[in-house]
Amino acid sequence: MKPEYTAHLTPWEYKVIAEKATDPPGEGGYTNHFEPGTYHCRACGAPLFESSAKFHSGCGWPAFDREIPGAIMRKPDFSYGMVRTEILCMHCGGHLGHVFEGEGFTPTNTRHCVNSSSIVFHPTDKQELVIGVPDFHHCQEFASRIEGVLSVECGFAGDGAHLFEALRIEYDPHQTSPVRIISTLVERTTQDLRRSDYWHCFVRDGSQTPEIPPNVSSGPLLRYTPASEEHQWFLRKAGIVRTQK
Ligand SMILES: [Zn+2]
Repeated sequence: MKPEYTAHLTPWEYKVIAEKATDPPGEGGYTNHFEPGTYHCRACGAPLFESSAKFHSGCGWPAFDREIPGAIMRKPDFSYGMVRTEILCMHCGGHLGHVFEGEGFTPTNTRHCVNSSSIVFHPTDKQELVIGVPDFHHCQEFASRIEGVLSVECGFAGDGAHLFEALRIEYDPHQTSPVRIISTLVERTTQDLRRSDYWHCFVRDGSQTPEIPPNVSSGPLLRYTPASEEHQWFLRKAGIVRTQK
């Protein structure tokens, strides 16, 4: 798998996603999780399953009776003396689990048996934060490791007069907040890069300014453009941030 998909994974998540290990069965992880939202690939962030497809199978792993069309690849798996069908993320090739048919659990007669370690849940009420940062390559890395942060994109945000390096962050409001995200970014950047030159919270038209740390300015977001693909996860592609195996 490409390093930009694996550098942020814990050693265990790497074992599951890149080396096809299996989470121990149990009631933990997402097995008994039934909130409204979407489950995404933990490696690349691609959406894989809607919460409406999730059902209780009693097998000890999260179970889905259908995938988001085109999100999943199937592959025959003859390991451990069994004949099974492996499922992988179509976008990055990360291992998800196996698919079983003909068990009669739900009308689709299909059970995608998925490792919690392979997926991340995005709630329906996830929020967005656009923030001008001093160095989007490093800040993308820092932000991706904050608990409750669901996705981070490098981009350029404008207040009408200038365009600034920025991050567009999606986060779970039940787990974190703009104050916590921005404070962590400011702290990491000051510590690791010895830079504290530019922090600005951009607010989309019609949205309220979130509560932000006192040393951070805010203003309207008049323009946002994602940075080109080469800027996304630049430090991973350049080999500066590596997978911890
Ligand atoms: Zn993926």
